[in-house]
Amino acid sequence: MAKKETPRKETPTSPKGMRDIIGSEQHKYHGFFEKAAEVALYYGFQPIEIPMLEREEVFLSTNGEDTDLVGKEMYTLKTRGGDKLALRPEGTAPVMRAYLEHGMQSQSQPIKLYYYGSFFRHDNPQRGRYREFRQFGIEMIGSPKSISDAMVIYLTALILNDVGLKNIMIDVNSIGDKESRVPYLRELTQYYRKHINKLCGNCKQRIKANPLRLLDCKSAECQPFKEKAPQSIAHLSPAAKAHFKEVLEYLDALRLTYRINPHLVRGLDYYTHTVFEVAEIAPDVAPEALAENATQLEETGEEKDRRVAKEERKAAANAPLALAGGGRYDYLAKQLGSKKDVPAVGGSIGVDRVLLSPNYKAVTPRIVKKPKIYFIQLGFEAKLKSLEVIEILRGARIPVTHSLNKDSLSAQLGTAEKLQIPYAIIFGQKEALEGTVIVRNMQTRSQDTVKLAKLSDYIKNIK
Ligand code: AMP
Repeated sequence: MAKKETPRKETPTSPKGMRDIIGSEQHKYHGFFEKAAEVALYYGFQPIEIPMLEREEVFLSTNGEDTDLVGKEMYTLKTRGGDKLALRPEGTAPVMRAYLEHGMQSQSQPIKLYYYGSFFRHDNPQRGRYREFRQFGIEMIGSPKSISDAMVIYLTALILNDVGLKNIMIDVNSIGDKESRVPYLRELTQYYRKHINKLCGNCKQRIKANPLRLLDCKSAECQPFKEKAPQSIAHLSPAAKAHFKEVLEYLDALRLTYRINPHLVRGLDYYTHTVFEVAEIAPDVAPEALAENATQLEETGEEKDRRVAKEERKAAANAPLALAGGGRYDYLAKQLGSKKDVPAVGGSIGVDRVLLSPNYKAVTPRIVKKPKIYFIQLGFEAKLKSLEVIEILRGARIPVTHSLNKDSLSAQLGTAEKLQIPYAIIFGQKEALEGTVIVRNMQTRSQDTVKLAKLSDYIKNIK
């Protein structure tokens, strides 16, 4: 009788929009985080690690259920104990939660914190948009001063600049304080109500639920209305106007390239006053694209629709991606249950997108310097003591590479040559007994015997 075949199990892949980051790509991420943390530390920011999961209310109370971030994009779960938790979709609300929970108000203000890691949004994956993505964020909590807004924008630009993204544009806007917001939202809602029949389905909802987000809409049918929409900067209270003016003065003094974008509002509800977004400046339109337009004078209506749709798709695929964004969020603390408002400002960099830029200059993590030494061991006695020799080198901060699983000298020397490592340390039976090693210059093939006690000094002194 034929043996019944058991169905082959398919090997699972990583979830949609989430991926493994391996080898040199992982080094790129690690190098970026290290560089960004260094800049933040120089400016007096301290690290904070926040949990991957937060109580759902941290985001519900602060972002509002009507935002896409909470309404559609948040991963939520109920624990066995019945707690409702959410995978963090952003870092600002959790950092403020931590600030309040640990009574940081009683320390000298502002508290300056930085964090980095994965964030999760259940969105449709596309170019530069993932379901798990990585951000580096900075928050300055406890100061209402405009210099804090400027400092956050400056540090964001500085980090991008340090990793090779020198050609960036900073869009800034002010959405004002409470006093400015009420009359502005009234006018904005009135304006959009007049065009309600021509708006996309989402925007029809937004008029009621979250009118500021009308300006954030990316769909083609809503664009003409955005152009003529009332602008928040025309409705700023005197205090909000003065604050925004000071921020711009700081940005001028810091010689940052920025433009005021009156339609910039940002997706999250808790922003007040300054909002900003950073993108790389796109290269000029290619000459062939212009030539293509010149041949389209005699097309039919249907051809035109097809062309416009194609151009829109192309433009979306080539549009500069937002690399970073942030703003002031003076009312967030109260939404998290604080009795008092806590003025604060922050920003975050989308690290995956930074690494996608052709201008990104990979920063190698400190630990992954190109190894100077290849460690070769021969025989059981030497293998036993191998880790001791590597530990001596680690103590002297000398990175080594090796293949302890190999036994033959020629296989190990071959690998050292292939990796173009300048020196090899050969540790055989005799050396293990005598407490020495042979240091071999891989290019000249000259060799020296060196006592283990002198090894780190010897290696430090060779070029
Ligand atoms: P936000 O937290 O929405 O202010 O986003 C800050 C930055 O994070 C954006 O400018 C993007 O660079 C990046 N970002 C946001 N969402 C995603 C995503 N789904 N995938 C990749 N990067 C993202």
